[in-house]
Amino acid sequence: MTQRSFSFEFFPPKTPEGAEKLRATRQQLFPLKPKFVSVTFGAGGSTQQGTLDAVVEIQREGVEAAPHLSCVGSTHENIREILGTYRSHGIRHIVALRGDMPSGMGEIGEFRYASELVEYIRKETGDWFNIEVAAYPEYHPQAKSPRHDLENFARKVKAGANAAITQYFFNADAYFHFVEDAKRLGVDVPIVPGIMPITNYSQMMRFSEMCGAEVPRWIAKRLESFGDDRESIRAFGLDVVTELCDRLLAGGAPGLHFYTLNAAGATQAIWKRLGL
Ligand code: FAD
Repeated sequence: MTQRSFSFEFFPPKTPEGAEKLRATRQQLFPLKPKFVSVTFGAGGSTQQGTLDAVVEIQREGVEAAPHLSCVGSTHENIREILGTYRSHGIRHIVALRGDMPSGMGEIGEFRYASELVEYIRKETGDWFNIEVAAYPEYHPQAKSPRHDLENFARKVKAGANAAITQYFFNADAYFHFVEDAKRLGVDVPIVPGIMPITNYSQMMRFSEMCGAEVPRWIAKRLESFGDDRESIRAFGLDVVTELCDRLLAGGAPGLHFYTLNAAGATQAIWKRLGL
């Protein structure tokens, strides 16, 4: 069996305080020895420098860093330049995305879909990068149909991706069905579940609304009932997410990718409970 992949995701901090907080989070999480950590990228290039600074700092700390790169609003020239910068810093792992253009911002650019970005990265840089792409077990919010979305996912993998990370979800069956369906379409790369620890009810509901992740009614109702009692939210969230991770790993998931939101506590607690 190939080794399972456990990884963490951060976002590039916007302020010196945020950068300090992220350093402290890394100090707590790196002893867990993740396979790699990824750093998000603001679509339209808004965090280009922040993402680069964060991945360079992380690589210096001896951990493999994978910048996210979204192509919406970009030209081939922009992307070539960014890839060149990453190469010159010895970065060999990348998460290739379409991204969502912030409303009212600029042109669509020269790439329409993540599959075109993957193709371009392969054409420009050969096998230099280990490429991850995004997967949606509950389907992408703009997808015409589940079938169409799956075919688009398969197309993006065939364009040269080595692995996929999923949008977060709380329904393990959605993940298992998606993986089975993708296999039937010939996808044979690892599809690693993205895991969102639950620490804040309103923030989670807002994120989920935006990205199309379903929060099951029983989870939403229980969280809502805790009101401002953060301790109960945390304890319940820890139970729910640990159980989900347990089920996913027992069912053959090839690892877990934690959306840390730059905080260590919840991820550490789940990790410990899972006995990883
Ligand atoms: P695509 O794979 O291009 O798919 C987008 C939509 O287009 C889907 O509905 C798909 O079915 C459809 N489609 C694809 N190909 C075709 C085709 N040939 N013809 C017709 N329709 C097609 N966003 C950021 O801005 N920055 C980040 O750092 C970031 N990180 C992420 C990390 C992960 C693990 C995930 C799951 C998402 C992340 N996102 C990020 C969000 C992502 O950018 C959005 O979900 C975006 O809307 C879709 O990006 P994608 O790469 O999945 O797009």
